[in-house]
Amino acid sequence: MNLLEVKNLNTSFHIGVGVVQAVRGISFDVAEGESVGIVGESGSGKSVTMLSVMGLLPEYADISADSIRFDGREITKLSKKAARAMHGSEIGMIFQDPMTSLNPLFTVESQLTEPLRIHRHMNKAQARQRALELLRQVEIPNPEARLKQYPHELSGGLRQRVMIAIALACEPKMIIADEPTTALDVTIQAQILDLLQHLKQKTKASIIMITHDLGVIASMCTRIFVMYGGVICEQGSAREIFYDAKHPYTWGLLNSIPKVTGKTGEKLIPIKGTPPDMLKPPAGCPFSPRCRYCMPVCRTYMPPLTALSDTHIVACHLTHPKAPKITKGV
Ligand code: SF4
Repeated sequence: MNLLEVKNLNTSFHIGVGVVQAVRGISFDVAEGESVGIVGESGSGKSVTMLSVMGLLPEYADISADSIRFDGREITKLSKKAARAMHGSEIGMIFQDPMTSLNPLFTVESQLTEPLRIHRHMNKAQARQRALELLRQVEIPNPEARLKQYPHELSGGLRQRVMIAIALACEPKMIIADEPTTALDVTIQAQILDLLQHLKQKTKASIIMITHDLGVIASMCTRIFVMYGGVICEQGSAREIFYDAKHPYTWGLLNSIPKVTGKTGEKLIPIKGTPPDMLKPPAGCPFSPRCRYCMPVCRTYMPPLTALSDTHIVACHLTHPKAPKITKGV
């Protein structure tokens, strides 16, 4: 059963020089207990998509959707108060940089107990007890002492664990992790990914991992959405994306991650060019200015979504029966 269903989501930002079309008509769903990854470069629309669902964008953002359903309820029809209560207690969010997401003026205890007191109506002692349990759950040693500390007194890894504990506080049905390891060094990244994996198995919550790095979600996600230029250009099971990708942008992402089986000295291949200006996105395929397989049709017509299996959907003119046959490229 689907926990989240998004249909035809559009998000734009009105800024002085025009309208930035950050997300352009995307639809997707996430099943109960499922782990999905949303992957793409900066500016592809992946974070804006989830911030739109969470209602966490500034006033000048213009969000529209045919439907956003969470746990059977239509979010777009909820009052602001009801939506805030739902987001605070049923969806947990882990942000990229815990140093800027945690409030430097409040202790760990204060930040960890606040959602419990607001959404779970716990008294001070109950909230403190639950805060200690949460710190143990995210494997923070000496939790009693940590509760009294401020964010600047913790290492980057510990701060991210506190963020995860806050996200888990109200036992959410879904956790959104937006680049949860980007600000951390490699060994701590691996520990945080292990922890998320372990917590997912324990809590049975659905997880949406937002990342620019396909390598980060390889072991974690069963389904992957690849975003480019505000649209989902390819989606499929992890196996379909890693072993049978069909979109040239996905090939580019795969070529830019190191492989264990790669030869010594083998170079990673970056994707040439820069992401599109979303003030004036290309008329046709958003990847056309950077795509080495670009055909005249690509510059004029947005490629339609083509289903290659029950789970594998691609938006690329190369899937047309009359298009040149290209199996995989760089
Ligand atoms: Fe490249 Fe055309 Fe496919 Fe876009 S639609 S990815 S430009 S081949």
